[in-house]
Amino acid sequence: MSATVELSGVSKAYDSLEALAPTDLRIEAGEIFTLLGPSGCGKTTLLRLVAGLLAPTQGTITIDGEPADRARQAKRIGFVPQAPALLPWRTVRANARLLLDVNAKRSTSSSSVDDLLDAVGLSDFADAHPHELSGGMQQRVGLVRAFALDAPLLLMDEPFAALDEITRTEMRHLLTRLRKPSGATVVFVTHSISEAAYLSDRVGVMTSRPGHITHIEPIDLPRPREAAIEDTAEFFAATTALRSALQQASPAG
Ligand code: ATP
Repeated sequence: MSATVELSGVSKAYDSLEALAPTDLRIEAGEIFTLLGPSGCGKTTLLRLVAGLLAPTQGTITIDGEPADRARQAKRIGFVPQAPALLPWRTVRANARLLLDVNAKRSTSSSSVDDLLDAVGLSDFADAHPHELSGGMQQRVGLVRAFALDAPLLLMDEPFAALDEITRTEMRHLLTRLRKPSGATVVFVTHSISEAAYLSDRVGVMTSRPGHITHIEPIDLPRPREAAIEDTAEFFAATTALRSALQQASPAG
């Protein structure tokens, strides 16, 4: 189950600051589309607009033809923030179920949540509390929480930025594995060129003043992508293309 995202002439200003210049973008159903760019170029703004959490100053955003805020209200959008924001008094299983409980959406059973916890290697910690987990384990709970919703669109705002490099690499493999059964559309935000190349079907390279997408790079690497793909000449070529697009977007940086 996956959704198409369409932005038409979408811009966003915070008072006098133009955070996002008018943007047209179509993200196809089942695609993993990454926004890559330096700090402050408007990646989070664009993601929050798609999430229906921010209203555009101009333009329209639709998810399968439905306005973004309506899609959000209908629980058709999952969101994974940078910090997983686990509730310390709830167990891992209860945190993973949080959105289901809050939304009273019961279509995902407890056993599916347990299966997801198993898939991310946390079965033995289902009854533990967040303070007993490492940062990587906590973010795995954040992923389970988002996937448990079974939403056709998943938005991820630098979900692995706070993790060490090895854990971060594990998490990108985990993300592709978790997503495979549903084939949900994913919009992913990162500063990391290798993360963008590994995960994406296409990467939108952004620059600031005002924020906009300067270039869209297709990543034609075969799937499924295993860790070893990062040692191939094709992967190197993809990261080189992204680095060069980033440098052209922000020559001073
Ligand atoms: P980072 O990678 O550091 O998270 P980003 O690319 O996600 O940055 P945004 O957070 O979207 O960028 O910010 C884009 C611009 O808009 C920045 O100049 C930022 O200071 C500004 N901005 C973001 N949110 C607000 C707000 N609520 N009010 C005013 N200005 C804001």
